[in-house]
Amino acid sequence: MTQNEKQIRDLLDGTLPWSQLHQAMSAYKESGRFQTYVRILQERMSWPERILLPLTDRLYIVEKDGHAAVKCDCGHEFGDYRENWKLSALIRVRRSEDELREIYGPFACHPDWMELREFLCPGCGALLEVDAAVPGYPVTFDFLPDLTTFYRDWLHEPAPTWLEGQPAPSSKAWASR
Ligand SMILES: [Zn+2]
Repeated sequence: MTQNEKQIRDLLDGTLPWSQLHQAMSAYKESGRFQTYVRILQERMSWPERILLPLTDRLYIVEKDGHAAVKCDCGHEFGDYRENWKLSALIRVRRSEDELREIYGPFACHPDWMELREFLCPGCGALLEVDAAVPGYPVTFDFLPDLTTFYRDWLHEPAPTWLEGQPAPSSKAWASR
């Protein structure tokens, strides 16, 4: 195992000492780091679908039957990556003073000004994301990557061929979500 690979494994396990973590954050990232990172993640999953891009610390964009889907590490699938996975999650909204106080104690905001939306995986119950939003504000769509450009122009690797025909995400796609 190379030093870089060991560092990535320690990083994922949360065992990298702060001094090394700090150095790693500001250091030049060698080419191939992303591929090593994804290979280590892939080894740890119990499912076979290829990870195209990690989305959060629990969610991944994976190759699935000729399209790209969002998948939890437990195996639950949320559907096409161009759709907002949050809308397929279990959603708990904290909108009363008591519910907000459970999190913020005496420093809770007034529920007329902000609510907390907790998005949980229907498969494993993990808390995947929390949004603080003004009541009535649409559910935010966090990240819509341009996978074709990422593979072709950044990684200089062939993207899955079925991705080539897909239009790049546009500002219009964002606005419609
Ligand atoms: Zn899950």
